Amino acid sequence: MARPVVRLGAPVLRVPARDVEAITPETTALIDEMIAAMYAERGIGLAAPQIGVSLRIFVIDLSSGRDASALKVCINPEWVEREGMQLEEEGCLSLPGFSATVARPARAAVRGLDRHGAPQTIEGTGLMARALQHEMDHLDGMVFVDRLRGISRTMILRKIKKLERDGTW
Ligand SMILES: [Zn+2]
Repeated sequence: MARPVVRLGAPVLRVPARDVEAITPETTALIDEMIAAMYAERGIGLAAPQIGVSLRIFVIDLSSGRDASALKVCINPEWVEREGMQLEEEGCLSLPGFSATVARPARAAVRGLDRHGAPQTIEGTGLMARALQHEMDHLDGMVFVDRLRGISRTMILRKIKKLERDGTW
């Protein structure tokens, strides 16, 4: 059984994650759990806080498990560049059932370590740039609704509050 993905309301989603100090067998096991959780939910990306661990690690697989070479793992990522702007519909495994049009960079690149500790750069346009910004936001304690303006943000947060009250979140 994959570890459950925590939902908005969990405090771990709202704090900046800590750097990974050393890549230990526990780190590798955590990464495997992240990948399993992402695939179990048919997601294309997941950050460690989403399974309750406040560390700066994300995984992205735009093929959602169909193409093994598409899997990216990044430890302690930092921005290299972000440019342009795209507007597309976006969701999040921690906000199941909700989506919104979110402004994201058209092109993005991050630098970090792979699961073996080797330096790497991950870059892309379109969906990859969007996924990079989405996962980097999670590592800073942000979710996609924080990128929305006024009414759409308020409406989503209000609906989630109601689900929480009803005990169905
Ligand atoms: Zn997310």
